[in-house]
Amino acid sequence: HVVVIGLGGNLGSPTALLARFSAAAASLAHLGQIAAAPVYRTAAIGGPDQPDYLNSALRLDLRDPAPSPTELLTTLQAIEDQLGRLRPAPRWSARTIDLDLLLFGRQEVELPGPPALTVPHPRLLQRRFALLPTIDLLGPDVMAPGAAVTLGAALAALDASVQPVWPTELRIAHAQA
Ligand code: ATP
Ligand code: MG
Ligand code: MG
Repeated sequence: HVVVIGLGGNLGSPTALLARFSAAAASLAHLGQIAAAPVYRTAAIGGPDQPDYLNSALRLDLRDPAPSPTELLTTLQAIEDQLGRLRPAPRWSARTIDLDLLLFGRQEVELPGPPALTVPHPRLLQRRFALLPTIDLLGPDVMAPGAAVTLGAALAALDASVQPVWPTELRIAHAQA
């Protein structure tokens, strides 16, 4: 299974955020081979007024015995907790780290939970900050499971002036599995 995990956060310095992204990658490395996308800076959209985000994504090639999508989400939430994510918090408010399950192979999942889980992530195709690093990892020609568009076509349909995303020189450190 090729899994893509979206990374985001906007509390603390870029250095602190990058360290959390790298810590998250290290915490997942036992599950399989990891590749990290470049890191982007993104203006916060929706939710309360808040600092810019850093966003990236990890590709995780799961090795057997692979966790189920729900097991992986539970692992992601435990890593968020360890890295200072506060819950409950207002929806889309500033956070130390956000780990979202963007893609789990070609699976489509809709589970009420808890924890609730929808895969592909229900807002992936509307978000430049999620599509850009996903395309860095998978290429633009992959079809989004359950949708009639490629990732590249979905990205091209979004307005870059409404959702500004800037490249950075920051790179996630991650151990090879
Ligand atoms: P958004 O989902 O719009 O990116 P968010 O990441 O800020 O918002 P969270 O507070 O991190 O939202 O998570 C809210 C709930 O979303 C979680 O309780 C989780 O069970 C659920 N959820 C559903 N699908 C997914 C998914 N694919 N990845 C991560 N969480 C998901
Ligand atoms: Mg999110
Ligand atoms: Mg989340």
